[in-house]
Amino acid sequence: MIEILVTGGAGYIGSHMISSLVDAGYKVVTLDNLYSGFRDAVIAGEFVEGDLSDRHLLEQLFSEHSFAGVMHFAAHIEVGESVRNPAKYYRNNFTNAQNLLDTMVEHGVNRFIFSSTAAIFGEPSYIPIDELHQKRPINPYGRSKRMVEQLLADYDRAYGLKSIALRYFNAAGADPLARLGERHDPETHLIPLVLQAASGRREHISIFGSDYDTADGTCIRDYIHVVDLCQVHLLALQALLEGKGSNRYNLGNGQGYSVREVIDTAEKVTQRKIPVIQSERREGDPARLVADSRRVRLELGWKPRYGDLETIIAHAWKWEQKMPSK
Ligand code: UDP
Repeated sequence: MIEILVTGGAGYIGSHMISSLVDAGYKVVTLDNLYSGFRDAVIAGEFVEGDLSDRHLLEQLFSEHSFAGVMHFAAHIEVGESVRNPAKYYRNNFTNAQNLLDTMVEHGVNRFIFSSTAAIFGEPSYIPIDELHQKRPINPYGRSKRMVEQLLADYDRAYGLKSIALRYFNAAGADPLARLGERHDPETHLIPLVLQAASGRREHISIFGSDYDTADGTCIRDYIHVVDLCQVHLLALQALLEGKGSNRYNLGNGQGYSVREVIDTAEKVTQRKIPVIQSERREGDPARLVADSRRVRLELGWKPRYGDLETIIAHAWKWEQKMPSK
């Protein structure tokens, strides 16, 4: 059986990935420090609690297993926090990633799938954003991820480490069977917050800015179902296992929805009125972020299965309804 190490497997995307990998017949080991993940989100495979700063643990893990590849999800993800506390972001997102990659090189493990982000592009100069778009991240979060991408290019040239970086736009939705879902604490993402307002776990949803240069004045984002995202990881892993070279892909549905459209769709799906408050713009939010995902479709043969916003929200709603009420 092909064995894969998943870092951050107790988190939102990582936990869905483990389930997809196991369904696809892989053997999986999760490494997670449970800083923001949940032990009970790891529903299959072996679980190791530990931190990527622990070189000794990494050494041990790679000596005991023969990993065919690594999927690296473990990272901090809050843009605002990264501005206030950049040390935390560079240490975990960059230095710890380098620890992992150095251990891989030492042990001859040379396939790496990296959770990157649309934040590496910064303020878009055109939409949709393709892989060639200039990369000028505007916060430490985006910079820490960009730096790993740069390191990966150097490690390929020098050590032959093959990687595929997947730049997520807005990951959303949940396991269609609602065994898993989004559980950030604190939650900052739009769709779970909107659904918490629908279920009554939150009093209202604040719209951050209604004066953007868009049709309804609210920001436009490209929401991609977490299960579709995992499907791309499987295809990327397969490509590396077949001996294909390093690559980078932008991952979205290629269609943007405004904050207002998300709320309206959530009202339709939940059949509930969602209380809304108009707030100030959130700092660093571009008006539009939409991916050009043609390359991943063409080169990896990916097709989104749950492309429409209604399905994404319906799955997230099933999960939200399983959450204990306050
Ligand atoms: N947003 C909002 N209210 C909230 C949270 C988010 O209006 O309580 C907006 C945010 O300004 C952005 C969009 O929803 O335009 C998506 O934000 P999210 O934090 O989910 O993802 P991001 O685009 O920042 O990665």
